[in-house]
Amino acid sequence: MPTPVIEFSLLDRLRSAHHWVVFTGAGVSAESGIPTFRDKQTGLWERFAAHELATPEAFHRDPALVWGWYEWRRALVLRAQPNPAHVAIAQLATLVPQLTLITQNVDDLHERAGSVNVLHLHGELMRARCERCRQHFPYPAEMPAIPEGGARIEPPVCTQCGARIRPGVVWFGETLPEREWLTARTAANQCDALLCIGTSSVVQPAASLTRLAIAHGAITVQINPNVTDIDDEVTCSLRGRAGEIVPELIEQLRAMI
Ligand code: NAD
Ligand code: ZN
Repeated sequence: MPTPVIEFSLLDRLRSAHHWVVFTGAGVSAESGIPTFRDKQTGLWERFAAHELATPEAFHRDPALVWGWYEWRRALVLRAQPNPAHVAIAQLATLVPQLTLITQNVDDLHERAGSVNVLHLHGELMRARCERCRQHFPYPAEMPAIPEGGARIEPPVCTQCGARIRPGVVWFGETLPEREWLTARTAANQCDALLCIGTSSVVQPAASLTRLAIAHGAITVQINPNVTDIDDEVTCSLRGRAGEIVPELIEQLRAMI
C-alpha cells in the first residue's frame, strides 16, 4: 500500500492546534504482533467468539477457560515490543502544548514507548484484581509457558478475601472506568485536533469520542488501512499502517513547528 501524501493544508491546520487527543485502538499494536479483534483471526480467535469470552457471564461459567485465554494474551503482550507508531505518539506529546492519549487497548505498549498518563478505557491486561474486594493482584515475575491459543488455567485466589482474581479488562456489558471515561470525554469535547488511529470505530461508547471532537469543530485525522464507519465524517483519512503513517506525520509536523 503506497504511503498517502499528507497535504500541506492539513499540516498547517494541525500546527496551530493547542490541545491534541490521540485515540488508539487495536490497530496501533497490530504491527507489534498483537492480533486485533475484527481483522483476520487466528488460533483461539477462530475457535471462540471473542465476544463470548469477554463477558462476566463467561468468566462465571468457566473461569479457567477465560483466565487461560487472557493469560495467553498477556504472554503475547509481554513478548511484543512497541512499534514506531507507539514511539511517535510518545514523541508527539513532547512537541505539542497539551496531549491526551486515550486507548481502547489493554496492552501496555504506549507506556513502554514512553507515554505517560494513558487513559485505558477498556482496562489493562497487566492489572488483574479481585472480583470481590478489587485488591490488585501482583502477577508473578515469571510468565508460565502457555500454548499458542491459550490453555485452561484456574484463576488465582485473592489473599485478602479468598474470592477469584479476574482479568483487569472491561468486559462487554460492563461500564467503562469512570475517571478515564470522564477525562476522555472532556478532552474530546475541548480538543483542537484528534488523531484516531487503528480503531474500527464500532465499539461504543468509545467510538463516540471522535464524533464529539467532530461535533465541536476539531480537526480529526483517521489513520487506518481499511474503510471504517467514520471515513466520511473525519477531516481527513490517511489510508495505511499506523507504524508508517504516524511517524511520517509527526516528522513532517516537527519540521514545521
Ligand atoms: P478492532 O479490532 O475492532 O479494529 C482494529 C482496527 O485496526 C481496524 O479498523 C483495522 O482496519 C485497523 N488496523 C489493522 N491493522 C492496522 C495497522 N497496522 N495500522 C492501523 N490500523 C490498523 O479494534 P478496536 O477498534 O480497538 O476495538 C476492539 C476492542 O478490542 C477494543 O475494545 C480493545 O479493548 C480490544 N483489543 C485490544 C487489543 C490490544 O490491547 N492490543 C487487541 C485486540 C483487541
Ligand atoms: Zn479480595
